[in-house]
Amino acid sequence: MSERTLRAAVDRVIPADGWRAGWAGGVGAYLESAGPELDWARPLLSALAARLGPGFAELDEADQDAALAAAAQHPEGAIEFRALQRVCWEGFYASSGGRDPEGLRMVGFHDVPAGVTPIDAPAPRTVDSRRVRRRYDAIVIGSGPGGGAVARSLTAAGKHVLLLERAAWKPNSELRGDHLHDKRNAVYRPSAGPGAGHPRIHVDDDGGETVIDGDGDAARYGLNAMLPGGGTRIWQGMAWRFLPEDFRMASEYGNPAGASLADWPVGYDELEPYYSQAEQELGVAGSEGALTARTRRSTRYPMPAMGTERSREVLGAGAAALGWGWGPIPLAINSVPRNGRAACVRCPQCVGHACPVDAKNGAHNTFIPLALATGRCELLLDAEAVRVEDGESTATVRVMADASTPTPRELVVEADVVIVSAGAVETPGC
Ligand code: SF4
Repeated sequence: MSERTLRAAVDRVIPADGWRAGWAGGVGAYLESAGPELDWARPLLSALAARLGPGFAELDEADQDAALAAAAQHPEGAIEFRALQRVCWEGFYASSGGRDPEGLRMVGFHDVPAGVTPIDAPAPRTVDSRRVRRRYDAIVIGSGPGGGAVARSLTAAGKHVLLLERAAWKPNSELRGDHLHDKRNAVYRPSAGPGAGHPRIHVDDDGGETVIDGDGDAARYGLNAMLPGGGTRIWQGMAWRFLPEDFRMASEYGNPAGASLADWPVGYDELEPYYSQAEQELGVAGSEGALTARTRRSTRYPMPAMGTERSREVLGAGAAALGWGWGPIPLAINSVPRNGRAACVRCPQCVGHACPVDAKNGAHNTFIPLALATGRCELLLDAEAVRVEDGESTATVRVMADASTPTPRELVVEADVVIVSAGAVETPGC
């Protein structure tokens, strides 16, 4: 690949304009540092450089633009040119691998606000796989919000629980500030797992099937985060309650042909006390108003709603002019310091990333620490439940412990009850 030609082409896609041009602004460093992830692009960029020719860098800007436009019109050149564009956007506008590209400086983006000292979520206390007991009252598979809440409730009721999580611990600092590997937008291996060796079959619109491993193509693999704490490590924290009619979808709206829609076996009133308990223990910031008018509450939100901002006021004024009710979204975010953790510092990347000051509430910093504090919960990380066998009075779970190490160990653990809370895709497959 002619670096001189490629550099000139990059600098025509993103020319200097008071800010540095594309190559010096991050694309050059990106191409140097990206490693095998850009193997898809390198042959295309080499082909484009050859198509543009060795004299491309000496052309004036108008002729360079004309040459690039001609390449973009060519059947094969168009693919090469699109690769060039994508590499330019990724290198110039996405933070990744510790780079601080020009595109983010242009808009004043800092993943941790100026003057804020990051505070990480402490790693939870875990049990060594060699100390896992043969039997527990309950085994909970998956440490996300469902599994964390169940572990919390069972241990509070005096039960001994083994809480299994297939991922190892990751600090918040490894779950933020990377726009090419975060779970929400990842175009490459997602930092929130699961990693290689966890294939899924993706069915496209035409019915074609592709096997996608857990370290590639996050968009098609799915957005479920595989982490201690599950998706709540990187969620936005919206903590809505279902509306009463959401429990009666079949009755309210009918059953479309071919569907098997059913009403829930419980209604809102039955579930309401549990919503309240979860909001208190998780920590939800909200206020009563138009958005909560249809969900009767037995308790107040434990924290005041997040403060307002200009965009909310503008949109709210528009809604009010139309006669629509509006209000702050209930968020599982500390609007004020709570339970020894900080308040939100309004960093610019909440959804898809972990919090820089541990102000975002999830299973990892609420339910699971509460369960562990009882002394009746053992948390085993890097442990995949590979089989659940139901017996007459006992269920058995086969677990591959230390799964990501060179020396995984199979454990066989029994319990009165097994709760599978491994996410919408993994739970049915368990
Ligand atoms: S809770 Fe606040 S500080 Fe934390 S990630 Fe969200 S916006 Fe940023």
